[in-house]
Amino acid sequence: MCGIVGYVGTENATDFLLEGLRRLEYRGYDSAGIVTLPGEGQVEITKTVGRIESLSEKLQQDPMSGSIGIGHTRWATHGPPTEENAHPHFGGEGDVLALAHNGVIENYATLKDTLIEKGYTFRSDTDSEVVAHLIDHYVKKIEAKGKVSNDDDPHAILVAAVQKTLPKLRGTYGLVILFRNYPNVMIAARRGSPLVIGIGNGEHFVASDGSPLAGYTDKIVYLADHQLAIVTADSLRVLHRDEGHVSHNVQVLEVEATDLTLKGYAHYMLKEIFEQPKTLADTMRGRLSEDNATAIFGGLNLTAQQLRQIQRIILTACGTSWHAALVGEYMIEEMSRMPVEVEYASELRYRNPPVDHKSILFAITQS
Ligand code: GLU
Repeated sequence: MCGIVGYVGTENATDFLLEGLRRLEYRGYDSAGIVTLPGEGQVEITKTVGRIESLSEKLQQDPMSGSIGIGHTRWATHGPPTEENAHPHFGGEGDVLALAHNGVIENYATLKDTLIEKGYTFRSDTDSEVVAHLIDHYVKKIEAKGKVSNDDDPHAILVAAVQKTLPKLRGTYGLVILFRNYPNVMIAARRGSPLVIGIGNGEHFVASDGSPLAGYTDKIVYLADHQLAIVTADSLRVLHRDEGHVSHNVQVLEVEATDLTLKGYAHYMLKEIFEQPKTLADTMRGRLSEDNATAIFGGLNLTAQQLRQIQRIILTACGTSWHAALVGEYMIEEMSRMPVEVEYASELRYRNPPVDHKSILFAITQS
């Protein structure tokens, strides 16, 4: 699951980035890194294998400056957890841009071959690095065509390059990107991997979920799939990858900063174990009707007659929720006497399982 954070404003970016990454620790990760742009043409980077605490120690010894930056916690899918493979990754010769990516680029091998043919050198084993070089490739291509930024939109080339890159990617991504020569803009984009933008006073934040934003701002915008955001300290534009400008809804963040801290527990897994009774009670509140001896599920809009036709149940999930589904399989089979199958969501999407109108499928998220 891992995480992404971004900051652009007037404060030292590393303060928010470190705190944000700490609050995303509960999602799991194996390495982490931060990039800032202290000024035009300047880039600073710190990466580490292991805990955010060791990233923080490195930063204490060697502080980074700049009021724009991105940070990442990685859960390795392509390449072992090493410092070279930790994000952010640079794109282009001379590190033209820096990029952090959550997700998986399924067609990375083909893209990598093409980019190597074009002369790009890869420094990591990750699928993510292809995205960084591909954006650089399009920046160069657009520049070569003589289409330069106009005064109205100094970031037009960067946005166009990202818009050209995204349709070439198969798979999932939450992305944040910084450009060395444009130290006031950050571009974020998503498909299948969540991203939230926080709106502050003369500053903006980006994160994989709302938890890093609590206490910084309660005004947030959820980016939808295929949208990208162009973020500066005092402006936020949201575009659809293919359709151009879209308006965005500002919502109120409903997370308490105190819910996200360790509250004295040694680590998040321990905290979550002890919170289980409360979590279960919260989950079931309002969903059990003792009077009618039944359960009320918002979103399951089937009539009793339709439900009686169901002959098979499929539960699909990944990781922890896959284990929860296995427990569910035992419970549902025992209570309903109906066959239940548990499928890995990451496999199910490549299969063509026999699912007819007599099957019901529950997809369980980890979030
Ligand atoms: N697939 C990327 C990698 O292995 C990103 C993994 C992640 O989401 O952290 O580096």
